[in-house]
Amino acid sequence: MPHATPPADLLINGLTIRPGERVLTRLVISKLPSGTVIDVPVHVFRSTEPGPTVLLMAGMHGDEVNGIETIRRLIRRDQLRPLCGTIIAIPILNIYGFLNFSREVPDGKDVNRSFPGHPRGSLASRVAHRFMREVMPLVDYGIDFHTGGAARSNYSQVRCQLGIPENDALAAAFAAPFTLHSALRPGSLREAAWKQQKSIIVYETGESLRLEEAGIERALEGTFRVLKHLGMLAEAPAAARPTIVCMRHTWLRARFAGLFRSHVQNGQYLEKGQTYGSVADPYGEMAVRLESPVAGYVIGLNHMPVVNQGDALLHIGVPEVRPETPAAG
Ligand SMILES: [Zn+2]
Repeated sequence: MPHATPPADLLINGLTIRPGERVLTRLVISKLPSGTVIDVPVHVFRSTEPGPTVLLMAGMHGDEVNGIETIRRLIRRDQLRPLCGTIIAIPILNIYGFLNFSREVPDGKDVNRSFPGHPRGSLASRVAHRFMREVMPLVDYGIDFHTGGAARSNYSQVRCQLGIPENDALAAAFAAPFTLHSALRPGSLREAAWKQQKSIIVYETGESLRLEEAGIERALEGTFRVLKHLGMLAEAPAAARPTIVCMRHTWLRARFAGLFRSHVQNGQYLEKGQTYGSVADPYGEMAVRLESPVAGYVIGLNHMPVVNQGDALLHIGVPEVRPETPAAG
């Protein structure tokens, strides 16, 4: 995908931003019942040289703080100075969720299932629409930062539709410990981007409402590598190792309700038949060992000890190549 050479002036939210300028603008979304205006701060960093426009966005799910912290650091440390092109950084898209420590907006709808949105739709739909109208037309590439939901922690991973050269290249450049092939979901940002031939990858690390320092560091380094790959940064830390690609991944779910204890670490390799934990009733009557039906890497782990039947316990990524020396990721 050839990136659009940005026009000399970039128009966003009614503002004209010239090459070389850095601007903070605020997209007004709506008002709270109290009358408080909810707006989304959008940082724009432009080089004097033409080049691609890259979106760095977090907080689509308001309780997923690792991404918010990642973008905050990039801004605070003044590390978004592109050699060419433009970086658009949005630390929190879903301000409502952030205020409420919640994934969704107050009516319970998920912004990431509400794209492309509508100006008179539900609140989530309005957030999506405002983004699609003001920001998406400018974007060539993007990284959307997430975490696991509820008490499920994701080991650092990039998710995207693989087999598309731009996505493959971005995921390889980011070089997270794992890269998952992930089909496009209806109403998601990735789907909306793809319909406009723009390449947005998702980075996931940790769980909601918990900061995970190692995952944030991997997020920062991966972002620098993507920006270097696009010619927008001169230097980036080398990846510790190439990413492990998993075309297939599957959740292991609880067959019994009770207290769940895991015997594995996030990121580790699990053999088929290996015990990964147990579920016990809380009264000392029974306990069941859990064995993995597949071999693969633990890429997501439930930290909630009280589980119902059907709850997701472990996310397993099946690597394309069986590792010679299975090791923690
Ligand atoms: Zn999310």
